[in-house]
Amino acid sequence: MNHFAYRDGRLFAEDVDLLALAEGVGTPAYVYSSATLERHYRVFAEAFPRSALIAFSVKANGNLAVLKTLARLGAGADVVSGGELKKALAAGISASRVVFSGVGKTKAEMRAALEAGIHQFNVESEPELDALSEVAVSLGKSAPVTIRINPDVDAKTHAKITTGTAETKFGIPWERARAAYALAAKLPGLSIVGVDMHIGSQITELLPFEQAFGRLAEMITLLRADGHAIARADLGGGLGVPYRASNEPPPDPAAYGALATKLAKEQGVDLILEPGRLIAANAGILLARVTYVKEGAAKKFLILDAGMNDLMRPALYDAYHEIVPVSEPAPDAPRAHYDVVGPVCETTDIFASDRELPCLNSGDVVAFMTAGAYGAVMASAYNARPPAPEVLVKGAAWSIVRPRLSDDALLELDRIPDWLAD
Ligand SMILES: *Cc1c(COP(=O)(O)O)cnc(C)c1O
Repeated sequence: MNHFAYRDGRLFAEDVDLLALAEGVGTPAYVYSSATLERHYRVFAEAFPRSALIAFSVKANGNLAVLKTLARLGAGADVVSGGELKKALAAGISASRVVFSGVGKTKAEMRAALEAGIHQFNVESEPELDALSEVAVSLGKSAPVTIRINPDVDAKTHAKITTGTAETKFGIPWERARAAYALAAKLPGLSIVGVDMHIGSQITELLPFEQAFGRLAEMITLLRADGHAIARADLGGGLGVPYRASNEPPPDPAAYGALATKLAKEQGVDLILEPGRLIAANAGILLARVTYVKEGAAKKFLILDAGMNDLMRPALYDAYHEIVPVSEPAPDAPRAHYDVVGPVCETTDIFASDRELPCLNSGDVVAFMTAGAYGAVMASAYNARPPAPEVLVKGAAWSIVRPRLSDDALLELDRIPDWLAD
């Protein structure tokens, strides 16, 4: 459910006419809907006991205005860098509601998080335990830790976003978990608070979660028998969203919440959830304008002013996004098959192959749907293209929450060393 719909022949974001917005802000541009963000957060949070910490995965959408929208509803944050920690705190999320994940936390990042007083570190390796212990002792603090355990289940998602099998770089292998906890218990400056997992992203079935929660329950029993105080279970994120209108919808948060709540009750643990995509994906679109319609030797190309530098998901993992014209086509409008591409000089700068769409012309504006997660955060300035700006809509109001850098501003980021100065 989202708040992007046609009204009188125009696509709207809540009460904002997106064609008018595209004229005002220029294209390409990301547009987020506050009402959709809020709705997704509430539906998700309501699926869990009140004591659960819903830590929004900042890497899915780190815009400060988006974070602040969620913070006001009580969201915590799951961060994977010192920069994300700073953003979460700047958005008004209390450090006590921040969890820190990721395989490569540096000592400087650990120090910042310890000084801020975060809820917990989700540790992903033995050397990281050593490093965190050292930093905590040097600050005279105790670091609350969980260890990310790899339950070795197949999340049945795209290979490039699966994280819970034995082959990935994430988490500690199942067989080494007890030894890692024993190490954590021995090291000074660490305080074991629970267990952690995250098996992947865009998971569209409940079964992998059910299997993983089952394995986690087994591990909690073993770890408690070993004498560790396991009071929390961080279940990660990963619940999928419908990218294709035609696909079967992913499990609803209530069903997922019921599974997790059962685990929490049976094991007597407080839950932590780290949803990213589920909250943000359907709350955002990317607007782009058709620059040219090019007749190739064998294909028709729709060349847009958005490129893979703005929205990398299709190039990175063959992701599918619905593409819809902002001016609603008549039901009997002629249709054509297009390769929808960007202007970047890379063969992978292609958003969709052989996509059937209503016939479009140069100057028409289209929207990539479900682009609110892993969209703007992955943007780059490749080809010296300033990334698309971000706009947040609330009712009939809208605001640019990250401006487009000018070509000059981009140029000024580079520096000339003395030996090249004229
Ligand atoms: C990316 C990530 C998430 C969020 O995943 P979604 O699929 O967006 O819900 C949560 N936890 C960790 C550790 C992650 O790396």
